[in-house]
Amino acid sequence: MIITDVVCPFCGCLCDDLVIEVENDEIKTVRNACKLGASKFLKHKKNRKKKPIIRENGNEKEVDFDEAYDYAVKLLLNSTRCLIYGLSNTSNEAIEYAVKIAELLRGYIDNTSTVCHGPSVVSYQTVGYPSCTLGDVKNRADLIIYWGCNPLNAHPRHLSRYSLYPRGLFTERGFLDRKLIVIDVRETDTAKIATKFLRIEPNKDYELISAMRAILNGLEIKQEKIAGVRIEEIYEVIDMMKSCKFGILFFGMGLTQTYGRDRTIDNAISLVIDLNKYTKFSIMMMRGHYNVTGANQVLAWLTGFPYAVDFSRGYPRYNPGETSAVDVLARREVDSAIIVAADPISNFPRESIKHLLSIPYINIDPFYNLSARYAKIYIPTKIVGIEVEGTAYRMDNIPIRLRKVIENNELPSDEEVLKNIYERLIENEDIIEKRYCVRSAE
Ligand code: SF4
Repeated sequence: MIITDVVCPFCGCLCDDLVIEVENDEIKTVRNACKLGASKFLKHKKNRKKKPIIRENGNEKEVDFDEAYDYAVKLLLNSTRCLIYGLSNTSNEAIEYAVKIAELLRGYIDNTSTVCHGPSVVSYQTVGYPSCTLGDVKNRADLIIYWGCNPLNAHPRHLSRYSLYPRGLFTERGFLDRKLIVIDVRETDTAKIATKFLRIEPNKDYELISAMRAILNGLEIKQEKIAGVRIEEIYEVIDMMKSCKFGILFFGMGLTQTYGRDRTIDNAISLVIDLNKYTKFSIMMMRGHYNVTGANQVLAWLTGFPYAVDFSRGYPRYNPGETSAVDVLARREVDSAIIVAADPISNFPRESIKHLLSIPYINIDPFYNLSARYAKIYIPTKIVGIEVEGTAYRMDNIPIRLRKVIENNELPSDEEVLKNIYERLIENEDIIEKRYCVRSAE
């Protein structure tokens, strides 16, 4: 059987033109995907478990799903402050249940943007986000800028589907109608194909953006170099920006995580606002996990805040740096956790990992990753976009429905697991309520 228009559940591009050949519920071939996307489909059986695993007194035992849900609920009822973390590699439907659990338990809920584009999200709440869709870029953009990102390696089809190469309504000749500027600290693969590459000194992005804005606003720069870039080159890039018909600035973690963080992104967004005095210009984050945008969106609809939400006072609060997962773990404020579709043990700072390893936590993930190996209870699930349908947001905030291509009748979805836990917690609402009454009386 050939399944067309399959969506790739790997990166924030959410390419929706994959063609997959399935025979006897086995994926045989994947067409149109890049290597990263194809390997997710072809190797989907790797590192999987069929039953939940409970770890007690150094022993591991496999249990059935009902027992796993009861165990997880007991664990949560015995805790006083829970953290829910991850959510960028699962569906919006699952994220909704995660928020409900966090609210019921008066815990913290955070997603992986806390360690990637968190500063960018903070920025667009401060100065706005003059963005567009990837369809606008494909059809209109004649100047593409990649700043602090290397899509040829991290989002391999971004250039061919949306930015440099596709033929669009007003860009009929594809890459012949476009120019590409890359700004980075090293000559990446994307930089090698750029019309103009600016190699910038590490952590000097703020200075370069400020110089560009000064020039755009009519000031004269006297220095010979800014951030390691010759002033003539900066003027050349400014001319390219001012003279395009539709420009787009894509930026990645190379910009977000440099010195200044959200202040740097404030400045980059302000640069785009300044450019709109001359021509049409937009800005967009290069999102990594396929539904990290959805994690921000769903949290924002339901709580008013995109990540790092704290329900401990009975209403949502948000203060990244205080209420984010890394911080509440490092301060040892939580005594249980639910990790959904993420692997914090492999990438969190040491102090946060130390505390996570010292508390009982539930790991819900299709793959048996490093965090799953240390969980008090690991619950395996279906892979969204391969074994179960679900909705996710592309990096330009467009929701896309992911398809199921094969059956997996052995495992529940992330949504089903979280729904089960939520419903069993609701049955014990009186215990949870009493706990908060005691806490407020104290
Ligand atoms: S670019 Fe991203 S979404 Fe597209 S096929 Fe590759 S990994 Fe999948």
